[in-house]
Amino acid sequence: MNNKERASISIIKILGVCLILLLVTGIGVKATNMKLSNVKIVLANDYEMSVMTTKTKVSEILEDNHIVLLEDEISIPSLDSEISDNKTIKIVKSDYNMEEEIVAETTETQTVEEILSNYSTITEKIIKEQVVIPFETITKDVSETVGNKKEKVIKEGENGLKEITYQVKYQNDVEIEKIELSSVVIKEPVNKIVQVQSVVTSRSTGIDRTQTTSGAGVSGVNKGTFKVTAYCPCSKCCGSSANGITASGTRATAGRTVAASSQFPLGTKLKINGNIYVVEDRGGAIQGNKIDIYMNNHSQALAWGVKYLQVEVVN
Ligand SMILES: [Zn+2]
Repeated sequence: MNNKERASISIIKILGVCLILLLVTGIGVKATNMKLSNVKIVLANDYEMSVMTTKTKVSEILEDNHIVLLEDEISIPSLDSEISDNKTIKIVKSDYNMEEEIVAETTETQTVEEILSNYSTITEKIIKEQVVIPFETITKDVSETVGNKKEKVIKEGENGLKEITYQVKYQNDVEIEKIELSSVVIKEPVNKIVQVQSVVTSRSTGIDRTQTTSGAGVSGVNKGTFKVTAYCPCSKCCGSSANGITASGTRATAGRTVAASSQFPLGTKLKINGNIYVVEDRGGAIQGNKIDIYMNNHSQALAWGVKYLQVEVVN
C-alpha cells in the first residue's frame, strides 16, 4: 500500500464518518419534528394506562398500543379523530349512555325525574270557552219631587255570552301556559233599566193609583177659579203604564172624569162650564187650584188648551 492509496482510504473514512454524522444528525432533526404526546387510555373495564405517542389520530394510537376494539365497543373520541397532548381516549360499550354523565353532574340540584320532565314534550291545544257577560243595571231618576220614591223596572236585564279562544300548552298533562287568541261576542247583554219615580207621580208618568184616600182634610172650598187643562189616555199624558183606569178604580170616561187635587174627595161632583164632572182621578201635577178634564184623544186635549174657569162643587 503506497501513500497515495492510504490517502484515498483516509478520504473514504472521512467521507464515511461524515456520512454517518449526517445520517445521525438527520435522524435527530427528524426525531425533534415528531412531537411526543402523553395520552391516557381508559379501557372498557376501567383499566387506565398512560402512553407516550407521536401519533395524533385515535385509531393509530390504539393500534400502536395493540388495543383492538371489540364489536360492541367504541372509542371516545371516535377512531378517526385527532387528539392533542394530555387527552384521554376512552373505550366504552356502544350502548354507553352519554346522558348518564349529564345526569350525574346535575343530581346535586335536580332529581332524575325533574330532568326527565324537562325533556318531556310540550303539547299545544286550542280550546274555546264560553263566558257569561253580565248585564248592567242603569238607574234613571225621573222623580220630580223630593220625598218618597219608588223604583220601577222598565226593562229586565239579560246576560250576554262570549266565546274566548285560548292556546293552551301542556307538559305531562299539566297546563303550563294559556294565551287568549280571540274573543267573540255571541250575544250582547241587555242592560236592566230601572226608573226612580216619585211615589206621588205626575200624570206624565202614569196615573197614580196608590193615592186612593178619599179627601181627608178637605179644605172646604166649594167654588173658585181653577186652571183647567185636559188630558187623554195617551203615553204623553199618562205615561207608558197608562191603562185608562182612574185613581178611584173606574174606567176613565170623557165628559165625566176629571182629575183634581186631594182638596176634592174622589167622587166629588164639579160643575165646570155648565157641565157636571166627577173627581175620579189624581195626578202628581194636579195640585191646588188645578183641574184636568179627561178626553178621548190627545188632539182634543190639545184643542182644549189651558182655561181659567169657575169651578163649583155640586151636591
Ligand atoms: Zn194625551
